[in-house]
Amino acid sequence: MILNRLKRVFRHRSSVYLDYNATTNICKEVQKTMKRSMKHHWGNPSSGYRIGKKANKVLEQARTRVAKSINARPHEIYFTSCATESNNAILKSLSLQFYPKKKKIISTPIEHSSIIYTLEYLETQGIVVENCPVDSYGFVQPEVLSSMIDEDTFLVCCMLANNELGTVQNIKEISKIAKDKGVLILSDCVQALGKIPIDVRDLGVDYASFSAHKIYGPKGIGALYARITAPMIQFIHGGHQEEGLRGGTESIHNIAGFGTACQQIGILIQKTEEMVELKDYFEREVKAIYPDVVINSPVVNGVSNTLSLSFPGIQNNELMMMLDSNGIAVSSGSACSSQENKPSHVLKAIGLSDDVAQQTIRVSFGVDTTKKKLKYVLTVLEKYLKERASSSDVPQRNFEMEKFAR
Ligand code: PLP
Repeated sequence: MILNRLKRVFRHRSSVYLDYNATTNICKEVQKTMKRSMKHHWGNPSSGYRIGKKANKVLEQARTRVAKSINARPHEIYFTSCATESNNAILKSLSLQFYPKKKKIISTPIEHSSIIYTLEYLETQGIVVENCPVDSYGFVQPEVLSSMIDEDTFLVCCMLANNELGTVQNIKEISKIAKDKGVLILSDCVQALGKIPIDVRDLGVDYASFSAHKIYGPKGIGALYARITAPMIQFIHGGHQEEGLRGGTESIHNIAGFGTACQQIGILIQKTEEMVELKDYFEREVKAIYPDVVINSPVVNGVSNTLSLSFPGIQNNELMMMLDSNGIAVSSGSACSSQENKPSHVLKAIGLSDDVAQQTIRVSFGVDTTKKKLKYVLTVLEKYLKERASSSDVPQRNFEMEKFAR
């Protein structure tokens, strides 16, 4: 009865989206800015006449807004097409500059695929990559990382917040270690922006990467922060844009949207407490429904919106498909790796077996998540688990699942 009523509410009006770490919807303020920009600021920002200058003004205003949101200076911000590009640009530029004088990068095994696969490529070019192990919640031990830095090391690469677990690293301490040893540091801050306050100067990082679509901005626009004196070479050859580092006419409407999204970060941060309450509520209720559930996300030093949950004995694609058929969107981990159909490298790095990793889902909350929506999710989950338990000793062929697997 209750479930049917809730289903009517959520299925027909809109689905329950719990995958905000994959991407976010474009908020109204950003939409407004982008529409205005498309209408009025379509000029080429490099053109010297009025219509070009108008576009250039929007470009620089957005740069200032992005910079302000992370306490950087505007000329330390370079716009890119996405955070994947930012990570590629930093890692490849630095490798080109340091190799063969220095060859080593220290990274972690839980980085995003845009770091992991770029490093894999760089290894084929002679760069040596060593991963600092993480504990069962994904935390790097700074003293272990410190012991791995040697004369051959030119870069430490460690994300601020992990996309699958929500784990927030002690980047300030890691930066200090890198600095003391004369090594540069890159931090992928994509999943931290809008979830925790970011002050790049206080963190002490030399480079950082950001993406607009994780903070209710548009897709296809990212940023690269490079501290004013940190080395950086041209990474897209072409025009003189972005201080000569990245050729190509800037996507003004996307950049303007990114700027506006950054202006909303204060509001997002204010929602943190509310989000923690929702996360605690959800975790508590899931545990009540399914006591065997394992929470992989850390209790302290984690972002407020992310929960990684393992359901022993239940395949995550089965669970996700059941939730999807009820209008609920969750994921098994990073959207960028979801096509690979392999156990998550993050979950394996924290010690989960392949089997348990494939029994794990990630839920990530956003501004539209409410207790009412979570109640619906819990009701659907409870019904499914009860039905599953009562039919567990009767083996059944699941044709739907077979379709999904193909
Ligand atoms: N880094 C992290 C931690 C991410 O979660 C993502 C996106 O999922 C990226 C980098 C890549 O961002 P983009 O989609 O802008 O390339």
